[in-house]
Amino acid sequence: GPGVYICNECIDVCANILEKELGGSPSKGKTSVEKPGFKIPFPAAILAKLNEFVIGQENAKKVLSVAVYNHYQRLRQDQAKLHEEFKDVEIEKSNILLLGPTGSGKTLLARTLARVLDVPFCIVDATTLTEAGYVGEDVENIILRLLQAADFDVARAERGIIYVDEIDKIGRKTENVSITRDVSGEGVQQALLKILEGTVCNVPPQGGRKHPQQEYIQVNTEKILFIVGGAFIGLEDLIRRRLGSNTLGFHARNPIGNLDDASVNILERVQPEDLLHYGLIPEFIGRLPVISALRKLTEDELMAILTEPKNALVKQYGKQLAMNGVNVRRDTAARALRSIFERQKLDVMFDIPSREDIEAVTINRQVVLGERTPSIRRKRAERDAA
Ligand code: ADP
Repeated sequence: GPGVYICNECIDVCANILEKELGGSPSKGKTSVEKPGFKIPFPAAILAKLNEFVIGQENAKKVLSVAVYNHYQRLRQDQAKLHEEFKDVEIEKSNILLLGPTGSGKTLLARTLARVLDVPFCIVDATTLTEAGYVGEDVENIILRLLQAADFDVARAERGIIYVDEIDKIGRKTENVSITRDVSGEGVQQALLKILEGTVCNVPPQGGRKHPQQEYIQVNTEKILFIVGGAFIGLEDLIRRRLGSNTLGFHARNPIGNLDDASVNILERVQPEDLLHYGLIPEFIGRLPVISALRKLTEDELMAILTEPKNALVKQYGKQLAMNGVNVRRDTAARALRSIFERQKLDVMFDIPSREDIEAVTINRQVVLGERTPSIRRKRAERDAA
C-alpha cells in the first residue's frame, strides 16, 4: 500500500532467494522456465491416442503421428550423440496440410494431437485474416490466440500447435476455381508464409490492430507447428484431369484404376502442382511438405462416432443426464448425426433438470425416427406413491 518502501539491498536479497528457489536466473521469470519433463511420445503411442478419439482416417492418423513426432524431435536438438557429418545439418520445419470434406475430422485431429502432447492449441479461420494494412485481422493475432491458450507463457506457446482452417478460401484469384472470393488471398498467403517459416513476431498483448506506441510480446514462431486444413472443393477435378491426361495412348495404364470408383480417394493423389492450380502460391505450398487427405466418412463410421470415441456424443449425453441423476438406456443405437441427436435430446434435456422423479430415459429406434417420444421411467418411490 502507500507509504511502504523496500530498499535496494533487500531487493537483492529477495532476488537471490528467488534465484535459489527457482534454480534459474531471477530476471527470466516464470515464462521462460522450460517444463523439465517434455516427453515426446513415439509415433505408435501418438497413433494409439488418436485412435481413442478419431474414427477411421487411418492414413491421416499415421501420417500425422510420424510428422508430429519428427517435429518435436527436431525441437529437442540433443545433437550430442549424433555423428559428425550430421551436426551441421538443420532439419527444416514440416508444417502439415490436411485436405478433406467438412466434418471429416480435420480439426478434431489437430486438437487431439495438441492434447496428446499437452501443448497449447488454437484454431483460426484463414478467411478472417488480411495482409497487413487492410481491414480484418492481422496475422499476429493468430499468435496472440496461441499465447492466450498458453496463459501468456511464451516458452509454452512457442512449441504449440495452430490449426488454420479454411485455407482453401485464400486462393489466388487467377487459376482459382472458386469465384466467390476476390479479396487478395495471395497477400494473406504471403503474410501467413512468414509465420509458417519461422519469424520473431511482435504480438500486441491486447490484440486488435497494431499501433506504434504499443508494447509488444515477442514470440518466435520457429517451433510452432502449423496444421492447415480445408475442404478444397473442386480439387478432385483438377487431380482427375491431371491423372487423366497422363493416361492417353494405347498402352497407357490408368494409375489409380477406375477414376470413378467411389472407394478411391482421389484427394490422396494430390501433388503440389494441383494445389498451385487451385490458387496456393508456390512458396506457401513449399512450406507444407506433409500432406494428408481425409476421406468422407462412411455410414458405419458415422455410427461409430456416436458411440465409440472417448468423447462420443452418446457418452456425453449420458454424462449430462447422469449429472441430473438419470440413466440413459439405449435399445438400438441412434442412426443419425449430431443434428438429429440434438433434436432428440432437446425435449428430454428441457424437462429433466427440473424433475426429481425420473430414474431413466429410453431412446430407441422409434424415438429417433420420430414415431414416439422418449419413454421415461419414474423412480420407484414416485411410482408407488402414484
Ligand atoms: P472438419 O474440421 O474436418 O470440418 P471437425 O473435426 O470439426 O471436421 O469435425 C466436427 C465434429 O464431428 C468433431 O468435433 C467430432 O465430434 C465429429 N467427427 C468428425 N470426424 C470424426 C472422426 N473421424 N472421428 C470422430 N469424430 C469425428
